[in-house]
Order: sequence, then C-alpha cells, then structure tokens
Amino acid sequence: TKVVGVLALQGAFKEHAELVETCVHEHGYPITVCEVKTREELERCDALIIPGGESTAISLIAQRCGLFEHLQKFVQDPAKAVWGTCAGLIFLAREITSDEKLIRPLGVLHVAVQRNAFGRQSHSFVAQCNFSSFMTPNKHTSKTGPFSTVFIRAPVIDRVLDPEKVQVLYEIDTPAGDNLVVAVRQSNILGTSFHPELADDHRFHDWFLRDFVIKE
Ligand code: GLN
Repeated sequence: TKVVGVLALQGAFKEHAELVETCVHEHGYPITVCEVKTREELERCDALIIPGGESTAISLIAQRCGLFEHLQKFVQDPAKAVWGTCAGLIFLAREITSDEKLIRPLGVLHVAVQRNAFGRQSHSFVAQCNFSSFMTPNKHTSKTGPFSTVFIRAPVIDRVLDPEKVQVLYEIDTPAGDNLVVAVRQSNILGTSFHPELADDHRFHDWFLRDFVIKE
C-alpha cells in the first residue's frame, strides 16, 4: 500500500484528500490518504500533494513548525511523487518573479513562476481544458471531454529554467494571443497553476495516482 499525504498547513487540503479517496474507492487502488502536519506524518508518505491557498502562509508555517527542511528533502527524493497546485506550485519553484521577497520556496522545480498572474480574486475564472495530449485515459472510466479547470489568483510559469528536466504539459491561450504555461512535469514532480480539487471531476487526481504514484 502506498501512502499519499496532503500537506495540511493551510489551504484546500481537505478537497484534495476527498478526491484521492474518491479515486481509491472507485478503482480499489492500494492507497491510503493522510493529512501531513508533522515530520513523522511526512516520513510515512510515498507521495505528497501541496494544495492551493496562500504560498506565503504555507512557507511561513512550514518554517515555523520546523517542517521546511524535511519537505525540501522529501521533494528532492526521486522515489517520491509530488504534486503542487497553485500556491503549491509556487512553493515548489526555484524562482518567483513577483512578490518574491515575501516567500521562501522549496526551490526544486526548475521554473520561474509569476504569482497572481491573472490579477485579483475577482479575475478568477473557469476554463474548459482538454488534457488528453498528456493525460493517459483510465480504461475503466467512461468520462471524456474537457475538464472544468479553476484558476483563482493563479500563477503562471513564466520560464522553464531547465528544458532538459521540465516538460511543459499544458498552455492556455489568452484573448491577447499569448500562450501561458499552466502545467509542467519534472520527472516525479507535477506542477499545476489551477485547482483540479475544486472541480467535481476526479480525472486529474486519478491520472496523478496512476502515472506518478502507482506507476501501473
Ligand atoms: N495567489 C496565491 C499565492 O500567491 C495562490 C492562489 C491559490 O493557491 N489559489 O500564493
């Protein structure tokens, strides 16, 4: 059995844990889910999801409770699967290009991330995205088609710092004609600007469990 932890210092960790539970329930994966607040809980995990929320708060709490260095060691371990959504993506990045003085990131994902790239909370939006170019389908589910993808004060990936390590998975087009990178993979680490845990759809979590955790 593999243990999937959800970092539970701040943010949308309950929603992630629920969607992982839904996948496990539906497909019978040999996986248990736990919330991670301490070093002991972290050390039991094979995978870690870092939720959206506020990256400055997540970083500060991690430093104050002595978890920061342990998290850094965990996310650098090639045997572990890691997924950061939104604030979690910012926390994983090597470089932050806006309000960077306010946050100390873990610095493992070789990208430069711009915080709040789409503006304020009121500029949050839902985009219909088709992830079939990278998301291997689950043979046992019938649901296909676009995914309602939630962006809340979302970051974008401004630059890939090491193209040999980091694969761009998904870009969105803006009305101004720009392509913005919103999902990347660096071997065992997944980073997304958006929040699949806030959609009523567990295909993204299911793919993470199959491709990163169980590796079936
Ligand atoms: N804007 C937040 C930050 O900078 C991230 C927002 C989110 O996780 N939805 O940390």
